[in-house]
Amino acid sequence: MNKVYKVGIVGGGVSGAVTALELDKYGIDNVLFEKESSVVNGPPFCHLHAGGNLYPDISDEQCRILMKQSIEMARLFPQSIDERPTFISIQKSQKYSVEEIQDRLKMLVNYYKSLIEEDSENEILGAPEDYYKTYSKADLVELYKNDYSENPTTPDQWMTNAIKFIDYEQVKTPVTLVQEFGWNLFRLGAQAQLALKKAENSLLKTNTKVQSIKDVRDKQVDHNWEIHTKNEIFKVNYLVNASGFKTGKIDESLHIKSERLIEFKAAYVSKWEPIAGLIPELIFHGERGTPNGMVQLTPYSGDYYQIHGMTKDITLFKDGLIKSRDNEAQPHFNDEINQKLIKGWDSEDVKTRTEKAINSVAKFVPSFKSAKVGGPPLFGAQQIPGKDETLRVGEVSFPYPSYARSEIVKASSALTVANQIIDKIQEEEIVPFISERTNLNPLLASISKNEIDKMAAQLALSRSYPEALSRLVIERD
Ligand SMILES: Cc1cc2nc3c(=O)[nH]c(=O)nc-3n(C[C@H](O)[C@H](O)[C@H](O)COP(=O)(O)OP(=O)(O)OC[C@H]3O[C@@H](n4cnc5c(N)ncnc54)[C@H](O)[C@@H]3O)c2cc1C
Repeated sequence: MNKVYKVGIVGGGVSGAVTALELDKYGIDNVLFEKESSVVNGPPFCHLHAGGNLYPDISDEQCRILMKQSIEMARLFPQSIDERPTFISIQKSQKYSVEEIQDRLKMLVNYYKSLIEEDSENEILGAPEDYYKTYSKADLVELYKNDYSENPTTPDQWMTNAIKFIDYEQVKTPVTLVQEFGWNLFRLGAQAQLALKKAENSLLKTNTKVQSIKDVRDKQVDHNWEIHTKNEIFKVNYLVNASGFKTGKIDESLHIKSERLIEFKAAYVSKWEPIAGLIPELIFHGERGTPNGMVQLTPYSGDYYQIHGMTKDITLFKDGLIKSRDNEAQPHFNDEINQKLIKGWDSEDVKTRTEKAINSVAKFVPSFKSAKVGGPPLFGAQQIPGKDETLRVGEVSFPYPSYARSEIVKASSALTVANQIIDKIQEEEIVPFISERTNLNPLLASISKNEIDKMAAQLALSRSYPEALSRLVIERD
């Protein structure tokens, strides 16, 4: 094949797909390789971390970055955002202080205001003064007396619905309701996949595994890299490694030394009896990895609920967090985890872990005890560059000229990474200077809700999940 692409991207997760679409927008031709049959098929995501309120241990700076990046991604993929708030509480036995969480929320309100001052379209989390609302125990007692709202719109209505189910004696007060929304991976994947199919400057190669890459930068040819798939060789000037937790494999094939952590995690799909009125996402903070680790209940459409429990027998796994060893860029999971990652889960394991997850929620939401297994777990391995396992904002590094390595920890960092890669490609004069840059993407914006509804349903079903998981709890126009 004689064509030379400006950019070759390995991995069609959220990072690779967004990078391809941003390059396409500026007329930069690129080829995107994804070994699976559709894009955004890697580890799951369900929560738009617009403020980092699920992580009491991270720095204020990481919270601000998460808020900014989340807003940017929500503007790009509005049809994937579920505009329901998040209830934040701390388990009674736990070290976290309510005051520290409140101080951080005040800081975030000011930061959100500054983002809106920069660009009024950034106001996607509602008015800054409504970003969060705090409720004392006395407030909860009062709200409990109100009726349910089938479709809550005000914070008090959301909190009333929640508090009808939550045993608030199990958590510290005050508690908070914050405008961190849900994030639907099937809908984001559908919008990206449909846009990539229409993109004039981006060639999407699904079902195509990159087997090796040859560095030909010193060979006096008209390209820098040769990307080998089973049947073809693609010539490219710039290489983007966006292969998720397999990033180290490509580093190794290029003889680059690098360090990273990778962590295998799972969230469980349950079905609960129909309840009166929608509830927010529920967070019960606790120390990660201990028996009282954070419990997270995420509502989906059709009475489905996703559960994370940050303990070793629910979301986390023994030997689930591993790091690169001497001279090896790619960490290796043990056989048990590889079995789950590659071949899938055995049904007994699905049942046992989902039931443990249900019981962990029932400690705080007693009637949730009646929930049942609702489908296979959503699972995957997440990459964390370097050695700091608490890092929640990983981005991109440029170990060689003409080579970018994307290692996002949260899906929200994908657009930032795409922009950093485009900056570098210009700096290296692979493409001429682009005078007008914008975060808007007309091609993505042209994909209709109807198209997204259909494709998202197909993606959920083709991956063996209930179709309802592809819909939003709060439908958008
Ligand atoms: C249980 C769990 C819950 C999470 N929840 C959230 C959340 O609520 N919010 C949030 O923002 N983030 C969340 N994350 C993190 C989020 O899933 C990741 O940040 C994000 O998916 C990473 O995207 P990526 O594109 O970098 O990598 P990936 O999604 O892993 O994409 C890499 C792609 O590369 C492909 N690939 C790999 N090697 C090759 C090859 N040789 N040839 C071709 N293709 C290849 C893979 O098939 C894959 O599709 C969660 C992660 C887990 C594990």
